[in-house]
Amino acid sequence: MRPNNFLGKLSTVIMLLFSMLILNACGDNSSANAQSSSSAATTPTEVIKWKMVTTWPKNFPGLGTGANNLAKKINQLSGGRMEVRVYGAGELVPALETFDAVSRGTAQMGHGAAYYWKGKNDVFQFFSTVPFGLTAQEMNGWLYNGGGLELWQKAYAKYNLIPMPAGNMGVQMGGWFNKEINNLDDLKGLKMRIPGLGGEVLKRAGGTPVNLPGGELFTAMQSGTIDAVEWVGPFNDLTFGFYKVAKFYYYPGWHEPGTTLEAIINKEAFEALPADLQVIVKSACKLANHEMLAEYVSRNNDALQTLINKHKVQVKRFPDDVLEKLRTLSDDVVKELANKDAFASEVYESFSSYRKKTENWSEYSERAYLNVRSADK
Ligand code: CA
Repeated sequence: MRPNNFLGKLSTVIMLLFSMLILNACGDNSSANAQSSSSAATTPTEVIKWKMVTTWPKNFPGLGTGANNLAKKINQLSGGRMEVRVYGAGELVPALETFDAVSRGTAQMGHGAAYYWKGKNDVFQFFSTVPFGLTAQEMNGWLYNGGGLELWQKAYAKYNLIPMPAGNMGVQMGGWFNKEINNLDDLKGLKMRIPGLGGEVLKRAGGTPVNLPGGELFTAMQSGTIDAVEWVGPFNDLTFGFYKVAKFYYYPGWHEPGTTLEAIINKEAFEALPADLQVIVKSACKLANHEMLAEYVSRNNDALQTLINKHKVQVKRFPDDVLEKLRTLSDDVVKELANKDAFASEVYESFSSYRKKTENWSEYSERAYLNVRSADK
């Protein structure tokens, strides 16, 4: 009796397990069917095609390729429902018409930097970088969590544009010089390619700022038309070959401590997207912002070693008194932006109060740690 009883119970358990397996398998099948029918139901009949105009030469290392990366991210994340095509500077519109082209809807999207549009409003410069401003990490803190992005959106709203951070190069280098900078007098009469607010600061220090496009910089240095040039940092500067025409490579890039690049999106085009694609576009911009910085950190490290070891470049730090003077002058120049109108004043207050807070935290975090890490060097 007992063995039979046991076998009877065992067969009942086996039957139960078997029926559970069948039920599960059916469950799986039915959910798989549901999935495939739901994806069939949402298969787009028409791909949303966007044009992205940029301020960069097509495929320009780091910047143009950063714009390509953003487009690729949107295309991939949307599962093919969107197709963003990138146009280099001059392909669809000239570099400095990017803002207007997206504003009027010639293109749905653009990639550039807010300080290129200072002719529309000086205050835009806060959303890219200002001399002695925020580092890349701090810019992200201000923009994403400190009210900066809301102000940026407010600033661009009347141009029918939605801005998003979409790239950062980190701290730039101070530039290439054909003579040493030992004191403030060495800045006097110095003809340097340094655009924007940095140029205004140099002017107040007695120098002559010159604004030239990237393509003309090498020749201008070679011919002696200018004495110094700032471009970006080791990665991009190595490509331009400045080490062939200047002996000294100075740091730090006080004038561009963490330039945020922007994606600008035509408001109607963005609002016409379904909600999930809106999230995808925003998320792709965040990814691109993060990935460009990571690329620049790595490539700058490698390129700096090449410049020093292979091309025997002399890398020098600006003297303390020179930096001190440039900082004082920068504070004046940046503060003057606030005087324009109530909105400029609001942006300046937000930016400068954030800088004050983050300076304090950076003392306890980044600087304290970096000092300790290199204490034995
Ligand atoms: Ca620069």
